[in-house]
Amino acid sequence: MGNTAQYEIKNILERMREQGLWQPSGLGLSYVKEGDKTVKLISQENTSKSADARARMKILVERAGWKVDDSICEIIEATHFSPEEQQMDEITQRRKLAQSWKCSCGTTLSSFPLHEGVWTKDSQREIIMENGETEITEEWCVVVTCSVCDIQLTLQPYDYGLLADNECMLSYKTSKMIYTIVDRPNIIQTIDNKFSESMIILGSFCPFYGDLLPPHFRGVVCFYTAIKEE
Ligand SMILES: [Zn+2]
Repeated sequence: MGNTAQYEIKNILERMREQGLWQPSGLGLSYVKEGDKTVKLISQENTSKSADARARMKILVERAGWKVDDSICEIIEATHFSPEEQQMDEITQRRKLAQSWKCSCGTTLSSFPLHEGVWTKDSQREIIMENGETEITEEWCVVVTCSVCDIQLTLQPYDYGLLADNECMLSYKTSKMIYTIVDRPNIIQTIDNKFSESMIILGSFCPFYGDLLPPHFRGVVCFYTAIKEE
């Protein structure tokens, strides 16, 4: 691990949100971002591999201009999870941490009216793919409003997904339509019962009014309803 690793670490740390969890893959280490340019090592697996990685990561993080606080690091039993279990466990931990994220007024983000979050296309950028071709990716964020101090915060879609319940992620409102993602059993049932006229497969735009749709609503099967004019 040389300069590239150091640069990557710097990138990850800068993009992480306060109280965000970072678990570099395969190292058995869990960090939480806390305070000014500091990450707290909250746990290390009780293996020599993880202990070595802990020392190595400390050096890399410090070279990237950050500090590691490992004063409260807990040594935990190595878990022998399958990749799927590992992923589930990480998501559970991330969700738990997300519950502690706060607005500057002290209100927890999880108590915001998250279902009113507004998906907003930030920008798009060109990324160079492994095969050398360039692809345009869109960057989206979700704007949420604090119910106490009215401040507007911008969340990364991933972070929003950690905070919001499934319903927020499965339903999307444009100015005139509501789309709700349909899961497979429900698709089958709907088709069998010949109710398929209420279902649609979405592309990048609302097929009725042309609104741009956020990435998680593209290429999915949805129920649709028109919003009634007041
Ligand atoms: Zn607030």
